[in-house]
Amino acid sequence: MIQRVLIANRGEIAVRVLRACRSMGIEAVVAHSEADADSRAVLMADESICIGPAESARSYLSAASVISAALVSGCDAIHPGYGFLSEDDAFAEMTRAHDLIFIGPSPEVLEKFASKAGTRELLAAQGLPMVPGSHGMLRDDAHALEEAERVGYPLLIKPSAGGGGKGMRMVRTPRELQQALTVCRSEARAAFGDDSLYLEKWLERTRHVEVQVLIDQHGNGVHIGERDCSVQRRHQKIVEEAPSPAIDDATRTELAESAVAAAMAAGYENVGTLEFLVDGDGNYYFIEINARIQVEHPVTEMLSGIDIVAEQIRLAAGEELGYSQDAVRLRGHAIEFRINAEDVRHDFQPQAGLVEHYVPPGGAGIRMETHLYSGYDVPPYYDSLLGKLIVWGPDREAAVARSRVALRELLVEGIATNIPFHRAILEDETFLSGGFDTNLLDRKGAAAFLAAVEPEGEA
Ligand code: ADP
Repeated sequence: MIQRVLIANRGEIAVRVLRACRSMGIEAVVAHSEADADSRAVLMADESICIGPAESARSYLSAASVISAALVSGCDAIHPGYGFLSEDDAFAEMTRAHDLIFIGPSPEVLEKFASKAGTRELLAAQGLPMVPGSHGMLRDDAHALEEAERVGYPLLIKPSAGGGGKGMRMVRTPRELQQALTVCRSEARAAFGDDSLYLEKWLERTRHVEVQVLIDQHGNGVHIGERDCSVQRRHQKIVEEAPSPAIDDATRTELAESAVAAAMAAGYENVGTLEFLVDGDGNYYFIEINARIQVEHPVTEMLSGIDIVAEQIRLAAGEELGYSQDAVRLRGHAIEFRINAEDVRHDFQPQAGLVEHYVPPGGAGIRMETHLYSGYDVPPYYDSLLGKLIVWGPDREAAVARSRVALRELLVEGIATNIPFHRAILEDETFLSGGFDTNLLDRKGAAAFLAAVEPEGEA
């Protein structure tokens, strides 16, 4: 079993992984950049080690620095968190070459599922329904136009190495497609260092529903149900919940069972999430797999009582899952609110600076996952996620009621956050009805959203 883990990440997920290690009797060393020397994970850790300057390319994304840090500090495993090196097969391979355990899928599995276009083909071969799209990557403009004709407009251009909603573009005509290809290629190259693109049919009025799976190295796997992540702003998740209010129990079971079966048959292993779009008739279409722990994993933990990070560590160490699908029981309803440092009244501009005062909410069913503390200086170099509020209730209505209370209690003073926006969402009729799609926020417009529920100045 693993004795000592290097946590090669920052923010709330570093704190989350640290806690999982402690609960398993595993020592943890937190790797941090110079900008994160005063972070909560560093303050909480048994030991910490600086891996470079603020710039992530020279710290959290530097495979050599991370591996040296693990070796110097006597660790036998590395937890990459999410983002950064978490899905990098070359890094996982380097980790193994140094006799360290990579907490995630094996390098071979990561490589197999590295490209989104390739993953579509792998899982389609296992019978999962796909969003109609191009066969493989686009070779050039002529190939793109040809594939576009075959699939039909409107289309979404997607970077094959993509993530976080970046670099996607919707096009309605061949002319728009041609114009967008150059821009998308250079955006993808800048964001992911890889400019390969593929096409998907643009599906109107769909929901984002994803399935959490746990698969060991011995051929055992379970799903822990689905999460609905349809509350998005510009294709980025803001609120996630489970169970999905949009699908019936028959669809729920079929979706989750087919997802875990296809992932296992395609050779996937460890913790992972299969993402789908679901239309108004309950038809579902696979979009991508996330081969890592996800931001919204606590939603599923609240329903199942399973510590997904602890399971991830166990599975990476080669342990057997040790239970079957019947043992996985899901109870009640959970909603997660991503708390971001951003000014919702000024185009959601990311914020940095001193958090003068932080007071977490409490009460039955309330969980805060955060690295915040009073006096913490939010550095300007990284993403704007400050933490997550996760609320459980026996049903959706109860979870919403508790969420309203928690979002009133939660205090982050000193910098602007999106807490007022979450309060606004909880007053929106369409959100409350459960009958919305991924365009709810963008269609209505953030400003209208806020204006309708909270007068200017109150937040
Ligand atoms: P990323 O990996 O960048 O997050 P995804 O493929 O997961 O990109 O898509 C992110 C979001 O974009 C989805 O949750 C959905 O709202 C929207 N989206 C993606 N593909 C399509 C599609 N084919 N049609 C309509 N919306 C889509």
